[in-house]
Amino acid sequence: MDSTVLIRVNLDIKEKPIAKSLRFNAAAAELRKISKTNNKVVILSHRGRPDGFEKSLSLKPFTPPLSKAIGRKVVFLDNADLKKAAENIKKAAKGSVFLLENVRFLDGETKNSSALGRELAKLGTEFISDDFATSHRADTSLSAITKFLPSKPGNLLKEEIKNLSLAFKKSKSPFVLLIGGAKAKDKVGVIRNLIRKVDLVLVGGAAANTFLKARGMDIKDSLYEPEMLDTAKQLLKNKKLAVPTDFTWEEDKILDIGPQTAKLYSFYLRSAKLIVWNGPMGMFEKKRFACGTNAIVKAIFSNRKASAVIGGGETVSALGLKNQVQHPKPNIFLSTGGGAMLDFLAGEKMAGLEPVLKQLKKK
Ligand code: ADP
Ligand code: MG
Repeated sequence: MDSTVLIRVNLDIKEKPIAKSLRFNAAAAELRKISKTNNKVVILSHRGRPDGFEKSLSLKPFTPPLSKAIGRKVVFLDNADLKKAAENIKKAAKGSVFLLENVRFLDGETKNSSALGRELAKLGTEFISDDFATSHRADTSLSAITKFLPSKPGNLLKEEIKNLSLAFKKSKSPFVLLIGGAKAKDKVGVIRNLIRKVDLVLVGGAAANTFLKARGMDIKDSLYEPEMLDTAKQLLKNKKLAVPTDFTWEEDKILDIGPQTAKLYSFYLRSAKLIVWNGPMGMFEKKRFACGTNAIVKAIFSNRKASAVIGGGETVSALGLKNQVQHPKPNIFLSTGGGAMLDFLAGEKMAGLEPVLKQLKKK
């Protein structure tokens, strides 16, 4: 058989148009490179959390934008009959690029099924794992598949690991960790894992509310997580942790950090040498609650001396970039991972990453 590269990328994109999104641009960059060598390429990816076939989660509409971005005609392949798909790939000319339908339509994809892994492996002669944003999960097309094909990590995966690992290296000081967004629960693992390495943890967004409540502030009707109060109390004992001191309210709800807090956080960010950021400072989707987040974006983008690693779907969209790319500035790295970024920074086991990294070590 000719060499056929099966590559797992992330096309789980909600933004429109998809061609401006970070995940799309990151995947396209890698696919352009790989298809240049004239190998056949088969793209594996997923969208959403379907239970069997769901038309609204088909990858088919992604075929034209992918063709355009890669600069080659991409042929869409249904996956209801994988044997037939394999035959079509075999018959195709060198240099053909295929997009396989949403792998999560297949029974077993999210169960790390060996049977499905073996079937998928028959579509190619080698496997590249390049879906960082799903790499915290042991899905078949990231994990089990590596048992049946020579496998290696792709360039995006390596870039993500390299940049996110800056957080573990304590080589750059001051190191400021900025945490916001919807839920403290999703983020405390990162704070816990990094607090010894950082100089400061700045907390904002709805995630800060639980900390404020734990400190005894009357947050009225603001969102908070009662089950996280004890954890918040523990973390607050550490003097590196800062919470907002003023707020923008709507009725009885805190919806943004206030101007004093924005100013203070910006000051710290301007003098930082390493910044890791996940989670907006307020409900930035509404203009009147975007001031805090916008101030932070400005501070980070104007600090050319700091390496900044920024991730999370809403966080990246809050940057307001017309075209989301991995390096909007040379010193800034945007991670395609939401949950995967948080798990990686929290030091959690990365079930979709380990198999391919293990294969690499064997060689
Ligand atoms: P990311 O997707 O970047 O990881 P999250 O999903 O954790 O970020 O949180 C983003 C969401 O949090 C945004 O939709 C934003 O509106 C919301 N948010 C931030 N601060 C507040 C707040 N104070 N009250 C309500 N929602 C908030
Ligand atoms: Mg989110």
